[in-house]
Formats: sequence, C-alpha cells, structure tokens
Amino acid sequence: MKTLMNYIDGTFVPAQSGDTIEDINPATGMVIAHIPRSTKADVELAAASAKSAQADWNALTLDQRADWLDAIADALQAKHEAIAQAESLDTGKPISLARRVDATRSVDNFRFFADFARKQQPLTFEMSDAMNFVERNGLGVVGLITPWNLPLYLMSWKVAPALLMGNSIVAKPSEMTPLTANILAETLDELNLPRGVFNLVHGLGPEVGQGILEHPLINGISFTGGTATGRIVAATAAPMFKKLSLELGGKNATIVLEDADLDQAVQGAVKAAFTNSGQVCLCGSRIMVHASIADEFIKRFVGEVAAMRIGEPSDEATQIGTVISMDHLEKVEFYINLAIEEGGTILTGGTRSMMGGVGPTPEGAYLAPTVIGGLSHLSRCATEEIFGPVVTVHTFDRLAEVTEMANATDYGLAGSIWTQDVEVGKALAKTIETGIVWINTWLHRDLRTPFGGVKHSGVGREGGQWSLGFFSETTNICVMNPRELGD
Ligand code: NDP
Repeated sequence: MKTLMNYIDGTFVPAQSGDTIEDINPATGMVIAHIPRSTKADVELAAASAKSAQADWNALTLDQRADWLDAIADALQAKHEAIAQAESLDTGKPISLARRVDATRSVDNFRFFADFARKQQPLTFEMSDAMNFVERNGLGVVGLITPWNLPLYLMSWKVAPALLMGNSIVAKPSEMTPLTANILAETLDELNLPRGVFNLVHGLGPEVGQGILEHPLINGISFTGGTATGRIVAATAAPMFKKLSLELGGKNATIVLEDADLDQAVQGAVKAAFTNSGQVCLCGSRIMVHASIADEFIKRFVGEVAAMRIGEPSDEATQIGTVISMDHLEKVEFYINLAIEEGGTILTGGTRSMMGGVGPTPEGAYLAPTVIGGLSHLSRCATEEIFGPVVTVHTFDRLAEVTEMANATDYGLAGSIWTQDVEVGKALAKTIETGIVWINTWLHRDLRTPFGGVKHSGVGREGGQWSLGFFSETTNICVMNPRELGD
C-alpha cells in the first residue's frame, strides 16, 4: 500500500490538513494507495513556490530547457514498464494498451517538444525602415488540470510545452488516477529539476482544482476534462483574465460511406469505439453507415465486438478491461437502460461481463462492449457523451443527410470517415463541425498538428506551435533602422 505525497517546492509533503483519500483499483475494488486530500492552503504553498522559481527558469534559453525535456524523456523511458503497470492498476485498462499508448506517449511528449523547440526559427518581420523581433516568454505560473482516462499521457502533454516555454507549474491529476503523476514528480526530483518549477497537488476537483483556478498568482489554465467542469473552469478563470485552454468532451461520428473497404472500416470502427473501453475523448461512439452496406457492416462489426476478449487488466491477452469505477459503470448502465426505453435494440453486450464464463466479479467495474441499433440519431444516447464501451449505429442514404446527423450534437471534437474516394472524404470532412477528422484511420497523431474541439468540446488548440503559443506571451520589439547619414 502506497501513501503518496504532494510535491511542493522540491519536497514531498502531506496535505497540511493531514487528510487523505483512497485510491481504488477498479478491477478489484481494493484500496491501492492513499493520497493527500489537499486544500486551498496547499495550493497556496505550491503557487508561491512556483512563482518564486519562474523567473530563473524563464531565464534559461529554449535550448537549455529542451535539454531538460530530453533528460526527463530518458528518465521516464527507463520507467516505461513501471508507468504502464501503474496506469493499468489505477484505471483498469489492459496492460498491453497502457504500454503501447500511455507509457510510450508520455515519453514521446517530452521528446517531441524537445526536438520541436530546436527547430524553431527566430520570429522577425522586416520593414523598409525597421525590424520587428518577436520575443516569447513563459506566461508565468500555469495550472494544469487533467482527467483519469489517459493520466500521464495528458499531464505530460501539458507539462512538456509548459516547461519548455519557461513556465513553472502547479498540476493536479484526477484523484482517481494519481500514481503516474507521482512517478513524474519522483523523476523530476531525481533529476534535480530546480525546486518550485514543478509542483504537484493531489486532491478533489472542487477543492484543489478550484483553488488552482482561483489563485491570483496562476496566470494560465490548461484543462482537460468534462464539458460540465469546463464550464466551471471558464466561469472562474475568465473574469480573472487568465489564459485558458479547454479540451473537453466529445461525441464523435464514425462515418462509413458505401464505397468503404469493409474490412478496414470494421476494424477501424471497433478500435475507434472501444479503445480504453470507450473512455477516450476521441472515441467514435456513433457509427453512421450507408444504408446500402449497413446489413453487412453491422453483421461483421457486431461479430468482431462480441469476440473481444474481456479480462483482467494484467492479462496480456485482455482487450477490454474495466471502466474507471463502479460509479462510472452505473452511469454507463443508465444510458444502456435509457437506450432500451428510447426504443433501441442491444445488438451485443449491455451487461456486466461474464469474465470468460467465470462469472461476473462484483467488485470489478467490468462492462461488455455494447452495440445499440434502432435509435434516432437525435436520441439522448446518440447525442450525449456516455464515455464508456457503448456505441450506437445509424444509417443514412445521402451525404447531406450524414452531415446533418454528425452535426446534431453539442460536441465537435473529432470523427472518422471511411471511403475509397479520398476527395469525397475530404469534401465531407469540411462539412463536419469538428476539430479533427481522420480519413481511413483513427487516432493517428502527428504531434505538430492542432488538437482541440469546437462547440462544447472546447476552446483553443494544443499541439506543436499551438502549445508553444498557448504557454507563452509574446513581446514585439520594433527597432527603427539607424538613419542613413548623407555626406
Ligand atoms: P472531470 O471534468 O470530472 O475532471 C477533470 C479534472 O478536473 C479532474 O482532475 C477533476 O478532479 C478536476 N475538477 C473537477 N471539478 C473541478 C473544479 N470545480 N475545478 C477545477 N477542477 C475540477 O472529467 P473526468 O476526469 O471525468 O474525465 C473525463 C472527461 O474528460 C470526459 O468528458 C472526456 O471527454 C474528457 N476528456 C477530454 C479530452 C480532450 O482532449 N478533449 C481528453 C480526455 C478526456 P477530480 O477528479 O478530483 O474530480
């Protein structure tokens, strides 16, 4: 049993109140760690420490900070397996997924931003009589708040560019998945990152998270989480004129056109719907398939989903582990029951899984991957974010119709289109109100590209230049040319 601490001013410390929260393994219901239940008093210490460290950190050159990112990437790479194990234990995701996606990308985020920084050119704009030099500095102290679905993957996606651009940090992971944020803090401590540059405060959203939002020393907030929480973040931080990046929920469409390669489309739709038990903001939780191929597509899709291997997260062969908690399982089940009330048909799944015939483990948050047909694309299950292993299937006849269906939700984060005619796919992609569209693939990421959503899926973009822009302030220095002296 671990007892985690906050990491404030270069020291591991408990919450000042001494209170703790249990960290529970969703596969067993067992307590695996205790974490500090911090309060605003702990945020106060973290923000003050970050403030006092920021100027010296910002005074380093971009290349020097890039070297730090490389050192962090090396150190995390050495802990790749420990990160994957911790992530699987905390979230209930399959260990193979935690290795392939979570641990790998956490290292890659630091490596990518280090390389990206070294490719930056000075920003200058020449006039006939003057020269403009654009200087970039850190915002100051930034607050980073992250969710439970991809814990270190998402935290490192913010920490790396924030450090790179000269900011100091107060970070809060979800209290349900604190283990890998602790590994990051231990790693930075081992590397002797200057004290105060990175501070980690564990605890509950309305207590620690809210404390970060409200703190006057914190100049910017990068938040990834649910849309309802995003609304609170904006309402608190915007009147204080804090810079804000909001990466929120999604209800993404997987669109299968009549000329799609069916094998590719079926495999892609399964991956898009059920990776991490559907708990990725980018998951394709609504499938829209052309009516002419719908019977064949649905038969093959349902067959693949029914054959997915549900099992213990630690089993190498497991494809579907648990959802994040029993509470979340009940929320997902609410939507499955609602689908039936709304006239839907469960084509496979819908139940707490039978764990390969051994019998449901009442303590584990296992839910079979679920496919629902027969619902209107306007039904609640087809428009609200369920964030679990549930996908609804709909049919369409015309491209204009599928555009209208895909846009009939408040969300606009991502989507995928499956077609052999790339030009038709690109033209359709432009009609979808969303931040990201993949054609004949899903979650294929180039970290230089903009990532983020429209409508209720968020405000702003992260990735490559967009991250550097968010985590910095610019000063334009305009220098008049020396007047030419005549003879
Ligand atoms: P939440 O919005 O519940 O929580 C996200 C983070 O915010 C957690 O650390 C949470 O703490 C904290 N928080 C909660 N209340 C407050 C508050 N009042 N002030 C400040 N912080 C607060 O999201 P989930 O953790 O449930 O994550 C799932 C959601 O995240 C889904 O909607 C998903 O779509 C979205 N998401 C979006 C992504 C994107 O890039 N667009 C990527 C991944 C997920 P605590 O855990 O203690 O409540």
